[in-house]
Amino acid sequence: MMTGESVPVEATVGDSVLGGTINTSGLLKVRATRVGDDTELARMAKLVERAQTGKSDAQRLADRISAVFVPIVIVVAIVTFAAWMIFAGSLTIAFQAAVATLIIACPCALGLATPTALLVGTGRGAQLGLLISGPEVLEHSRSIDMVVLDKTGTLTTGNMRALAVHAEVGHSNDEVLGRAAAVEAGSEHPLARAIVDKAREESISIPQATGFSTEAGFGASATIGGESVAVGRPAWLESQGFVLSSELQKHLDELHLTGNTVVGVASGRTVVGLIQIADTLKESSAEAIATLQSLGLTTVMATGDHESVATAIAQSVGIDRVEAGLTPEGKADLIVRLQAEGHQVAMVGDGINDAPALATANLGIAMGTGTDAAMSAGDLTITRGDLIGVADGIRLARKTLGTIRGNLFWAFAYNVAAIPLAVAAVLNPVVAGLAMAFSSVFVVTNSLRLRSFRPTT
Ligand SMILES: [Mg+2]
Repeated sequence: MMTGESVPVEATVGDSVLGGTINTSGLLKVRATRVGDDTELARMAKLVERAQTGKSDAQRLADRISAVFVPIVIVVAIVTFAAWMIFAGSLTIAFQAAVATLIIACPCALGLATPTALLVGTGRGAQLGLLISGPEVLEHSRSIDMVVLDKTGTLTTGNMRALAVHAEVGHSNDEVLGRAAAVEAGSEHPLARAIVDKAREESISIPQATGFSTEAGFGASATIGGESVAVGRPAWLESQGFVLSSELQKHLDELHLTGNTVVGVASGRTVVGLIQIADTLKESSAEAIATLQSLGLTTVMATGDHESVATAIAQSVGIDRVEAGLTPEGKADLIVRLQAEGHQVAMVGDGINDAPALATANLGIAMGTGTDAAMSAGDLTITRGDLIGVADGIRLARKTLGTIRGNLFWAFAYNVAAIPLAVAAVLNPVVAGLAMAFSSVFVVTNSLRLRSFRPTT
């Protein structure tokens, strides 16, 4: 939970373990060194809270406009009334001109401009699985110039999958996979599950195994047809006396370079094959990154995983910059650092470990397939798990903001243009009323156009 990674962290004597995490296998004897408010989880909750309260509430554009506009109009109306009284001496004309000024300037369409567009925009978003939490999201969607993305569960599926089997000469891939699956059949470890799933997927017959034993963090072994079979880290297999051929060693080095996890299968006296396992990319990730870049955003990957894995994934989807080996706090610090460099930053994540960064970012985008903690820390939630939704969410938010600005302009344009006419007493209050009504209708109609927003397919 704390790393956001799908592979468990190995813990041994003397290591620190974190509250709220799960011990997948083996026995742990732990000493509580920090409890209650001092635990890592409580600290994370505090980080989120601090980041959220520190966010300045951007004053609404309409509020800013009306704060200036309304007093000016009232003053203009009073001056109009007084001027007509003094220079024309007619109470009727003075009254008509002042009332027409107030009516034509009445910012009722202004009041509708933001809520109608927001209602239609967020409604359309909800239909498409893009949940916009509030109006401030729109402003931030426009100003952001950088997107920081979590790796596991965001760019990738977060599930380990066995991708390929490399068998030693004289052995078949099916035999290697079948034997590995037999040894791992009872294990809950994600790597073990990936092997068993792959064997089932390919309908490989899994032989009967007996006498299981596991060495937590290294591997497992069992007896199949009287022969002992071990499955685990290649280095561990070698330390157990199994021989790794130079052919397989070469393969192993190549796979490690590309950030894959490799499990070895050994029987007799040799390693008979390697199984390549990795957390795979979501289908749409590369396209989503390209779409984000086309929106003018620099993409950065922030992950707790190792540099080699992170770089391999980043290169395959075309991400601009990689920050690896980050703790949850490190992710939030990265956001602060990027903001200090002058960037307006959006963060996309799914895990509890992303929550502080999501709350710190100018725009926090949570994957709806992730944790509740991430969703409550985010401003925008993408309920469908794919990353294309992030680009759609930003596009929809920007479009909604554009509609609001268009509304504000038209709520004002001819009213403001007509104020001099009203002041000059040329504008009948009834005509002024009609113009006002028309601007309201216009604003509503303009907002409804957001219903036609199309997601990327
Ligand atoms: Mg994650």
